[in-house]
Amino acid sequence: MAASIVTRFAPSPTGFLHLGHAMSALYAWRRAREAGGRFLLRLEDIDAARCRPEYADAILEDLAWLGLDWDEPVRVQSAHMAEYRGVLDALAARGLLYPCFCTRAAIAREVAAIGNAPHGADGPLYPGTCRRLPAGERAARIARGEVYALRLDTAAALAATGPLTAEEEGEGAFRIDPAPLFGDAVLARKDTPASYHLCVTHDDAVQGVTLVTRGIDLKPATHLHRLLQALMGWPVPRWRHHMLLTGPDGRRLAKRDRAVALRALRAAGRSPAEVRAMAGFPD
Ligand code: GLU
Repeated sequence: MAASIVTRFAPSPTGFLHLGHAMSALYAWRRAREAGGRFLLRLEDIDAARCRPEYADAILEDLAWLGLDWDEPVRVQSAHMAEYRGVLDALAARGLLYPCFCTRAAIAREVAAIGNAPHGADGPLYPGTCRRLPAGERAARIARGEVYALRLDTAAALAATGPLTAEEEGEGAFRIDPAPLFGDAVLARKDTPASYHLCVTHDDAVQGVTLVTRGIDLKPATHLHRLLQALMGWPVPRWRHHMLLTGPDGRRLAKRDRAVALRALRAAGRSPAEVRAMAGFPD
C-alpha cells in the first residue's frame, strides 16, 4: 500500500483569496482526497504588519464556500513562535547563523558600490559584510543594543550537509543550489522574528506534509527549504510546483486584482462549481 499522502494549502492572510489561490488549494485538496490522504490548512501570519485577522476569517469562509474541507486543526503560525525560536537556537548553537547589523539602505549602498553585484531570487545578494565581523565586535554591538537580523551562513551550512537534491514530482530529482538564489538568507529579523523559509519548513515537518504543492514562483525557495531540512534532520517531502493562473493580460493574478477575488465572484452571482471550473477544476 502506498504511504498516505499529506498535502497542505498555506496562504498568508494579507488579502482576500483569488482564483490563483483557489487553483492552488483545489490542487492540494484533490491530491489528498483522491488518495485517501489528509489535506491541511495553515495560516502563515508571521508578518504582523501585513496580516489581518479579518483576512484569516475570510480565507476559511471562502474555502468552505468553494466546497473544500480540511483536516483539523488549522495551524496558525503566530501561535508557534517559541518553536521557531528553538530552530534558530539549534542552528546558532552549531555556528550556522550570524548577526547582521546592516540596514536595508546600507546594503543597497554597498551593492551599488560593487557595481555588477550578483542578483538572486529576491534581488541583489547580500555581500556578506557582517559574516566577516570579528566575534568581539559582534558581541559589543549586541551589548550596545544595536538591532540585527540573523543570517544563515550558507557556505558553512552546505559544507555541513554535503550535496543535496530535491524530488520534483513527475520530473525527478534536481540539484540544490541555494547560494546563487538567496546568498546568506535572513532567517529572523526584529519585525519578523522567524522568516517564511524557516516557518514553512518547520511546519511542513511537524505537520507530516509528504507532498508540498505550490506555485512555480516558489520553486527557488525550495532550494533553501531543502537545505534547512537537511540541517535539522527533518523528513523530506516531494514537491509539485504548478503553473500560475494569469489574467487576460497574461500577467499572473495578484491580490490587488479585485475582480478575481473569490468574494467578488460570489457577490457577482457565480456558484462554487463555476468558480472551481474557472480555477481549472471543473466537476
Ligand atoms: N504562505 C505562502 C504564500 O502565501 C505560501 C507558502 C508555501 O506554499 O510554501 O505565498
